[in-house]
Amino acid sequence: MVHFDVLTLFPSMFDGPLDESILKRAQESGRLSIALHNIRDYTTDKHHVTDDAPYGGGGGMVMKPEPIFAAVEAIVTREEDVPIILLSPQGRLFTHAVAAELSHCPRIVLICGRYEGVDERVRQHLVTDEISIGDYVLTGGELAAMVIIDAVTRLVPGALGHPAAVLDDSHAGGLLEGPHYTRPAVFRGWEVPEVLRSGDHGAVARWRRQQALRRTLERRPDLSAQADLTPRERELLAMWEGELHSQDDAEGD
Ligand code: SAM
Repeated sequence: MVHFDVLTLFPSMFDGPLDESILKRAQESGRLSIALHNIRDYTTDKHHVTDDAPYGGGGGMVMKPEPIFAAVEAIVTREEDVPIILLSPQGRLFTHAVAAELSHCPRIVLICGRYEGVDERVRQHLVTDEISIGDYVLTGGELAAMVIIDAVTRLVPGALGHPAAVLDDSHAGGLLEGPHYTRPAVFRGWEVPEVLRSGDHGAVARWRRQQALRRTLERRPDLSAQADLTPRERELLAMWEGELHSQDDAEGD
């Protein structure tokens, strides 16, 4: 079970994406709950101002600290051990490992920035973590929050109908997953590999593992270099690496 408290200026952005399929079922079964908190509701001035011009000049606006502190302090007490995460392109990169870590937290607070970002004192004195979903800049933290909610929820026990699937997914075991096929066995003359139709479960498992290894080597050699592999698998990788280099050399001639 995981509960997300999301602080945002645009709560209606969350309507829809989280109400379908697996996330919808996770909410219905009590494995996921999401509370949206409009930062504007925590302002105390007549015009409900949440942003102001940056000190020192320059373009854009900066989100004011007072309503963000007030919102967090109304939701969680200092004594509670709840991660308070600021979505930020400057945060630590969101990976499978981070999603797995967060899936063990019963409660998580996500703060969505906008404009030029939030006043630095939020980062310094309120949040416990900063997470980026990639090396690019979004217009706001809402989409990043949804990405985190989605990826974390599928790792919560019972959220997926077929829990073992998570273990074979790309990144979960350090490799990319191999290819999938379904019926028909022949489509436009393209055949499903014979081994998958053989009914030999051992052969299928070995084929899948080799495909995962090969695919990871070809697409993400950085991952295969760090993966936890058997000596035999390392040998296979070294052989394929040699093949790939000789292909590259031949194409370069
Ligand atoms: N001026 C900021 C900078 O250069 O670091 C970027 C601000 S961005 C336009 C506005 C908000 O979007 C950020 O405060 C953050 O909450 C969110 N955001 C943008 N890119 C993100 C990313 N890659 N991961 C997570 N959140 C992001």
